[in-house]
Amino acid sequence: MKKIVLLSLLTLAACGTKQNTAQSKAANYDPIPYGNTITEAELKTHLYTYASDEFEGRNTGDAGQKKAVAYLRDEYKNLQIPAAQKDGDYFQKVPLQKGSNLHSELTINETEFTFAEDFVTFTSNTNGTTSIDEIVYLGYGIDDEKYSDYQGKDVDGKIVLIKVGEPKNAEGNYVITGSEENSMWSGNIRQEFGAKLTAAKENNVKGILFYVDEYYPRFKMQYEFVKKSSRISLKADESESFFYYMINDKLATAILPTIKDTAESRILNVNATLVNKDKSNDVDSENVVAIIKGSEKPEEYVVISAHLDHEGIKNGEIYNGADDDGSGTVAILEIAEAFKKAQEEGNGPKRSVVFLHVTGEEKGLLGSKYYTDNPIFPLENTVADLNIDMIGRIDPKRTEGNRNYVYLIGSDKLSSELHNISEEVNKKYSNIELDYTYNDENDPNRYYYRSDHYNFAKNNVPVIFYFNGTHDDYHRPSDTPDKINYDLLTNRTRLIFYTAWELANRDQRIAVDKVAK
Ligand SMILES: [Zn+2]
Repeated sequence: MKKIVLLSLLTLAACGTKQNTAQSKAANYDPIPYGNTITEAELKTHLYTYASDEFEGRNTGDAGQKKAVAYLRDEYKNLQIPAAQKDGDYFQKVPLQKGSNLHSELTINETEFTFAEDFVTFTSNTNGTTSIDEIVYLGYGIDDEKYSDYQGKDVDGKIVLIKVGEPKNAEGNYVITGSEENSMWSGNIRQEFGAKLTAAKENNVKGILFYVDEYYPRFKMQYEFVKKSSRISLKADESESFFYYMINDKLATAILPTIKDTAESRILNVNATLVNKDKSNDVDSENVVAIIKGSEKPEEYVVISAHLDHEGIKNGEIYNGADDDGSGTVAILEIAEAFKKAQEEGNGPKRSVVFLHVTGEEKGLLGSKYYTDNPIFPLENTVADLNIDMIGRIDPKRTEGNRNYVYLIGSDKLSSELHNISEEVNKKYSNIELDYTYNDENDPNRYYYRSDHYNFAKNNVPVIFYFNGTHDDYHRPSDTPDKINYDLLTNRTRLIFYTAWELANRDQRIAVDKVAK
């Protein structure tokens, strides 16, 4: 048996190496001719259409946004670049809702409690009735290596009651910190809520009743605000049955009269019914996703993203959003065309390149949140996200330095290799001034958290955010195509193309060597 094996291995090796050299020769092929297919004229033509009044400012869920996604789909069809989804649909449906008309009814031991008055939530829960005969009281609901209310408790699929705060010892010091200083489990109600919610989910709890004591009026006010607002948000994931309610004194003491004085966990037998009747208005929207499959490592993905939506029409005025984010949108179309040309000439990328146009960015990074929660391609196979948001203008605050610049944000946060590659590629092909002013975590503008790359970074996918800074027309009807610096838009678009080319063709996938903060 062995011998045959040996023989075939040899031939394999021979042809393998022949193929590799051809490929690596092709892969190392000079990208400049393809970069040069990215032109001012084509960017301008696209942008004058995409940011024209006809698209009505592309407000999420509105007719203008529907025109925008149709335009993008048709462009990919013209370029013969296939849809990312297996069914050939370029649109990844993003279920949204306008406003919030949550409504629940809760009866505990024949006493009825009023939604918003006594208990409130901010996410729509699955509609229907839940009968509750047991509630597990878990004190503070903390799950920390130094102190845990969950340890040894059977809460799987159960409803738990918890309260604000954290334990103190006889000397009055916090048990977890061992000092007068509180830990992340109390003090800042938003952070505390986030931590306790995560702990409950990690322990597979069905739902939590969170007694927030003196903070309740604040949550009630927030709910009233959300209810009135026409805010658009992601619709609750029907498959997710987990729920949470902030509850007030009256309800908490009705379930456990001594709740203020004790943190000792126990099982409470109750006769309760919870009815959810969420009447929020559904808003249909979509991300547009296309792909050029890799020739050698098709299961590794370089994502290039931008948001397709903008502010729509306000007070009768159209917010064209030429820079925000028409510039990023048309940049991706030109980059896609360049990669397609390379593929047609046998120099296609080794790894797959995904062109991701997300919706709902102006409403809170909704489209990218939905994509990273429901990725078409596994995030663990996603090498990097190059996110483009506003690259067609000049920041008037930037008085020093070369006008041929771009702000880079996030390139060194998760992968030092990504940062170095970005620098090297720029030196080799573009020589744009890479400005890291806003890359500081403590930068008061917090741009790192304010565009779609952040949802990838949160999932440990290395990111680069390309941005030119704000300007006088930012989020104004005057952000129009005639104000765009097309030479700078072209330079920046080519830089992003060359960076994607390198990430898609280099032998080694870049390593994640840092943890996102
Ligand atoms: Zn934007």
